[in-house]
Amino acid sequence: MGLKLEDYTGSGTFAHGIHPPGHKNLSQDEPVRVMPTPDTVVLSLHQNIGGPCEPLVKPRQTVAWGEIIGKGTSFVSTTLHASVPGIVQRPVRMTLANGRHMDTLPIKTEGEIPSGRGLWDEIFGGNWPVTGLDAYEPARISLAINEGGLVGLGGAAFPTHVKIAPSDKKPIHTLIVNGCECEPYLTSDYRLMVEAPWPIITGALLAGRSVGAKRIVIGVEDNKAPAIAALKRAAEGTGIKVAVVKTKYPQGSEKHLIQAVIKRQVPLGGLPSDVGVAMSNVGTMAAVARAVIYKKPLTHRVISVTGGGIVNPSNVLAPIGVSFGALVDFCGGLTPDAARMIAGGPMMGFAFSNPGTPVTKGTSGLTVMTRDEVKAGEETACIRCGKCVDVCPMNLVPTKIAMASRHQDIALSRRYNIMACFECGSCAYTCPAHIPLVQLIRAGKARVAVADRS
Ligand code: SF4
Ligand code: SF4
Repeated sequence: MGLKLEDYTGSGTFAHGIHPPGHKNLSQDEPVRVMPTPDTVVLSLHQNIGGPCEPLVKPRQTVAWGEIIGKGTSFVSTTLHASVPGIVQRPVRMTLANGRHMDTLPIKTEGEIPSGRGLWDEIFGGNWPVTGLDAYEPARISLAINEGGLVGLGGAAFPTHVKIAPSDKKPIHTLIVNGCECEPYLTSDYRLMVEAPWPIITGALLAGRSVGAKRIVIGVEDNKAPAIAALKRAAEGTGIKVAVVKTKYPQGSEKHLIQAVIKRQVPLGGLPSDVGVAMSNVGTMAAVARAVIYKKPLTHRVISVTGGGIVNPSNVLAPIGVSFGALVDFCGGLTPDAARMIAGGPMMGFAFSNPGTPVTKGTSGLTVMTRDEVKAGEETACIRCGKCVDVCPMNLVPTKIAMASRHQDIALSRRYNIMACFECGSCAYTCPAHIPLVQLIRAGKARVAVADRS
């Protein structure tokens, strides 16, 4: 690809941020376990940022594993596939872990798919070419990604074919592949980098080609030495660079990883493409390789099932649409002091209570905290210590934004740049007065968004 990497200038970190305990040791050292196919999966028709899917199947219809069951309703939307073979059930409206109410298609499993190591090999094994990829035209790559139903697997769930589409208006010079996984507890990306670096490299080469990037850099935090070594070995001779960045939260945020890797600042309210960068997560890259090379859709993903409230914390390869409760059972159940389930990690995840809630494409983990882990102090008045300001990676003043939100003052919220907050949780984590800064800011953002639409 003629990649030129000499102008790599990253400082390896960003200003502000925090160092919460990682708790990654709970699940990082064991190979990914493959879950047996569950009896039922429940597939939300809206699993991505952007538009939902419309169903292409009817109740009682038989579907094959990987068959298309929903198609996107807009450009910023994507395809949905059956993650198990079986019989489509009546649509049901369900509350997802993020609190949104969505139409879902349940599928009762009937039929066989590979199991155990066979399923792992089917998805991540095989031959992953790093040469001859010029045969894949950018438009063909983007189409295959959309047909494969890919979204960002790091949690954002933005449709991948949109993210890595070539653009004349904002040319992309660098593709950054995000392997930071800075969220405490979660280790699914880490295990994937260690156990399946080859599809990540092939996917990165294809995505870089699609977006027209001159260079490709994989950013990994310096607490993941085995992953760094595995990626470097797999990337040998391809021109892809592995950039080791400092372990700090939220290093995996797009804007802060760009700052760490190429020392460019994305303008407030801007996008990575404003500084010539496209970014995608390591898991997404592996899915890109499979969708483009083998024309196989996204039906399964690796999920961390972890926290002090899980008997056997593990990383699990499971079908999209499996229930969180089934994941818990597969990992030995809950400990007696399990107190809170969080979809994702404790900093940016969503607490929920129904174990029947289904996993979506963007679910990177389930963290179950114990009573001791969630013990929060009682909220007291702000003591104006300024700690929340010191840690905010967006240079915001969280205490003032939260106050504006508490007073439902939309104009003031806007003046304090509330929409620039990406809800990383660093301010709330550090606040000695236990003020629920993120909840307040989240509510304020929703108010501003409603006001903007009206
Ligand atoms: S204000 Fe937003 S971006 Fe800043 S620390 Fe708090 S949650 Fe993170
Ligand atoms: S960290 Fe908490 S107590 Fe300190 S200024 Fe911010 S909101 Fe106030």
